[in-house]
Amino acid sequence: MNVSCRVCGQSEKLIIDTYDHSITKEPFSISLCKRCGFGVSLKVPDSESIGRYYKSEVYISHSDTKKGWISQLYHIVRNVMLERKYKLILKFTKGKKLLDVGSGTGYFGGFMKSKGYVVQGVEIDLDAGKISREKFGISPMLPDDFLCSDEDGNYDVITLWHVMEHLSDLTSWWTKLYNSLNNNGVLIIAIPNHSSYDAEYYKSYWAGYDVPRHMWHWTPFSFGIMANKHFFEVIYMEDMPFDPFYNSLLSEKYMKRTMGQLRAFFIGLRALLHGKRNVEKSSSVIYVLKKQPI
Ligand SMILES: [Zn+2]
Repeated sequence: MNVSCRVCGQSEKLIIDTYDHSITKEPFSISLCKRCGFGVSLKVPDSESIGRYYKSEVYISHSDTKKGWISQLYHIVRNVMLERKYKLILKFTKGKKLLDVGSGTGYFGGFMKSKGYVVQGVEIDLDAGKISREKFGISPMLPDDFLCSDEDGNYDVITLWHVMEHLSDLTSWWTKLYNSLNNNGVLIIAIPNHSSYDAEYYKSYWAGYDVPRHMWHWTPFSFGIMANKHFFEVIYMEDMPFDPFYNSLLSEKYMKRTMGQLRAFFIGLRALLHGKRNVEKSSSVIYVLKKQPI
């Protein structure tokens, strides 16, 4: 493949052949830039046909199910993470106007509302949006409506928790995020990191690839370059302490190895420690970004 990397311009690629392990079991490939590590999922279904790749109870980030112990654990972890996210935001801004892109069923937005924030959501899933409205009084905009809206937003905080890897038109999103954030505001983006210990361990079985739902794959290096191209600067990075365990559990499930859950615990623990020592090795990275003046 001779297409040059949209992040660094290099044309040498590494192809990873993997599968949609979690839902359809169909094969997909990822083209990774050998220089900066930015990855692109190949032959991703278009917006008309991507819907069926999300249709599963397994895809719990968009659902409210409590079936199975992994899902139960996810819900416990979510509550711990809500506090961490709130504290992280407080560290960087005292502003209270928040936009959550990919607001899902509204748990994060609802939590922030309870802390005195004015919250707007953006969500493509109508069922999730309905729960958000009924449970937390947050009526999310549809992504296309948000992208086309001419309000500048003037938000103090914009969050995308494991969302950017799902967005097809990255350039439009970066521009809209820039225009929606006030000059002192912070943009917070959490995404998987394929240079993490667990990604390198599980290779094509790594749950963080999650093709074709994840269209893009970053390392801290490639993400930093991309952010700069869109007039943002990464000012802080932090790990997500539960993601190494979650990714290891799912990856073991896809590999169908014996004692998978036990292995996942130990590999998750090792991955966590690697990430704590060096955030560039952590399973997922939370990036805090500030606008650069254009
Ligand atoms: Zn590159």
